Amino acid sequence: MIVVLNPGVEEIEIKEVEDRLKRLGFGVHRSTGENRTILGALGAPKEDARDALQVMPCVEKVVIISQPFKLVSKEYRKERTEFEVGGTLIGGDRLVLVAGPCAVEGRDEFLEAAKLAKEAGAHFLRGGAYKPRTSPYSFQGLEEEGLKIMAEARDQTGLPIITEVLDQHSVEVVARYADIVQVGTRNMQNFRLLSELGQINRPVLLKRGMSATIEEWLMAAEYIVSGGNSRVILCERGIRTFETMTRNTLDISAVPIAKELSHLPVFVDPSHGTGDWRWVTPMSLAAVAAGADGLMVEMHPRPQEALSDGSQSLTPDKFLEMKTMVERVAQSIGRTL
Ligand code: PEP
Ligand code: MN
Repeated sequence: MIVVLNPGVEEIEIKEVEDRLKRLGFGVHRSTGENRTILGALGAPKEDARDALQVMPCVEKVVIISQPFKLVSKEYRKERTEFEVGGTLIGGDRLVLVAGPCAVEGRDEFLEAAKLAKEAGAHFLRGGAYKPRTSPYSFQGLEEEGLKIMAEARDQTGLPIITEVLDQHSVEVVARYADIVQVGTRNMQNFRLLSELGQINRPVLLKRGMSATIEEWLMAAEYIVSGGNSRVILCERGIRTFETMTRNTLDISAVPIAKELSHLPVFVDPSHGTGDWRWVTPMSLAAVAAGADGLMVEMHPRPQEALSDGSQSLTPDKFLEMKTMVERVAQSIGRTL
């Protein structure tokens, strides 16, 4: 249930409604917009509570949200969420391109990759410093050293950086360096981690869990937003199906569905979504045609030498080809790149 207050209400009146909601057994989430305040009443909706609130003089209207996810739902907010990070608008008409290697492998390697990403026209630089690897014997990432290298790459290129946080313990250090903090597919339902990310002052890119339904994905986003952090990007990255020709099945239909249900920006990661560089360009085109607000693509100067995910990484040349084609699709649906 959401409570929309009249424009220009005083703090004391807002507090009064919040207290009322708490007495009625709801948790309260306040969202302060430019000219009005909206209170999210967290808990099962009750008609009598709605009637009681509706008559308060500072209340404009009370809306019962039928979806289990509230603050991230379109019922709560009809306008699309847009926010700027490092000078780039996310969620607007202009598509956002994120490029970089799977992992930060070393200083020279990453600075080279960053320069190429910049030259290829990426808006954000990606790279993992904390890697969630299936095998404990695989390269696990350079950890804080990797974050420092990413920060240096940002200084050199001007590109803001996106990197994954693996656990609650490293939230503080990752948020200190990153412009956008990524939650990987394996952590989409790590609820303690999500709640903690609700408290940070950094946008979060939330990958869809490889076995998560769209509703579970939106509920995961609700954890972050209800914790107080409204800057969340949803990222479809493929789900597990019976198909073995691809690493995952990229669920393109999740893009229009997530955008229908939620006001949050939706990105697509065709690299993990397919696991093979040959399918990255066609699936990027499909993602943009379906309404994706951004693409996150693995790009490596020499994919054959990559310490992880080389087989799904584009070379800078292939990335440029992809970008040219994406631009045409974007234009055909009234968007720019
Ligand atoms: C990644 O983007 O580096 C990554 C590990 O992705 P995912 O969590 O989607 O597997
Ligand atoms: Mn990867």
